[in-house]
Amino acid sequence: NDNLSVKNRKVSPSVTLSITAKAKKMKKDGEDVISFGAGEPDFKTPANIRNAAIEAIEKGHIGYTAASGLPELKKAICEKLKKDNNLEYTPENIVISNGAKHSLFNTFQAICNPGDEVIIPVPYWVSYPELIKMADATPVFVKTSEENGFKYTKESLLNRITKKTKAILLNSPSNPTGTVYTEDELKEIAEIAVKNDIFIVSDEIYEKLIYDGRHVSIATLGDEIKDLTIVINGMSKCYAMTGWRIGYTASNKEIAKTMTNIQSHATSNPNTIAQYASIEALRGDQSPLKDMVKAFRERRDYMVDKINSIDYLSCKKPKGAFYVMVNISEIIGKKFNGYKISGSMDFAQYLLDTVKVAVIPGTGFGNDNYIRLSYATSLDNIKEGLERIEKALN
Ligand code: PLP
Repeated sequence: NDNLSVKNRKVSPSVTLSITAKAKKMKKDGEDVISFGAGEPDFKTPANIRNAAIEAIEKGHIGYTAASGLPELKKAICEKLKKDNNLEYTPENIVISNGAKHSLFNTFQAICNPGDEVIIPVPYWVSYPELIKMADATPVFVKTSEENGFKYTKESLLNRITKKTKAILLNSPSNPTGTVYTEDELKEIAEIAVKNDIFIVSDEIYEKLIYDGRHVSIATLGDEIKDLTIVINGMSKCYAMTGWRIGYTASNKEIAKTMTNIQSHATSNPNTIAQYASIEALRGDQSPLKDMVKAFRERRDYMVDKINSIDYLSCKKPKGAFYVMVNISEIIGKKFNGYKISGSMDFAQYLLDTVKVAVIPGTGFGNDNYIRLSYATSLDNIKEGLERIEKALN
């Protein structure tokens, strides 16, 4: 329809959501589907956090808050950034939004002008290119390779920087690859950003889900890079709070103010009750998080070993988040049980049709030679699902 917004008609639907929706529907219809699609922890929000929400309701904390979020939650976020990341911020640097996705949306709206370029790595999380396009900017793709851990290299970045480069998107630990950057690697990226006056949008939402190595925020690497960095984080992944919709940014005050103004008209404050619960998540008992990380590590180790024992499939061990990128390049072009597999979409369809296993095709992340499996599901499901995939390839 020519009457509708040309810009927004170009926004593509999320591949991740469409496959998981199909698997969910099959499950609802009584079919025995195993889903490796999940982008959310399969754990309940910890009890102390749930209780804090109930208490907020009972106490009548149910009105609007400041558009950019509750002062007390901003304080708790500043304490967290100091304690976990050694980052000094004050509440004026913080904007609390409806999930980290909304924080990313606000960020690109605040920093981009028409024609600006934002560098993102391939494979990328599905929403980055669309969020950038919605801000009238252009995503510029930097291919990474499995051999170097799906990371930017200095050369690959320098090759893509132009006068129009506004920002570099960094996502460590990464969805979908599980990549975690080291401090030295971040130093190289920070140097490039400072020298060329380019923002870093640092999506640190999987910060606490690390199994090897440790998380470093690029904003810690000096005052200049800190001023250029917009740290993105939130409650969804680390506190099993996906549906509560709380994310936040830490940035310089000018960017924070612009985002606040945008948000004040678009959504007002994020859910008040969820903000109260988030104070407890950040300040309360952190042991449920430790148990979750332990379970994820055990599942990751099982999954990686099993995948590498299956013919035609291989994967590297991811260091963080809860996804494994499985290399399916040996499958592409072959026929299995009469199905010709010409890409990751075909393979995902084949697995869903024949053995009722849902996986996310890599084409949604910009690389057709992979599928993404999430291990945010029980070890029993992982065992059964991988056995089915093995059978489908026999
Ligand atoms: N960033 C990455 C890399 C993600 O994988 C996700 C969720 O899938 C988000 C941001 C958004 O998280 P939320 O909006 O639930 O806070």
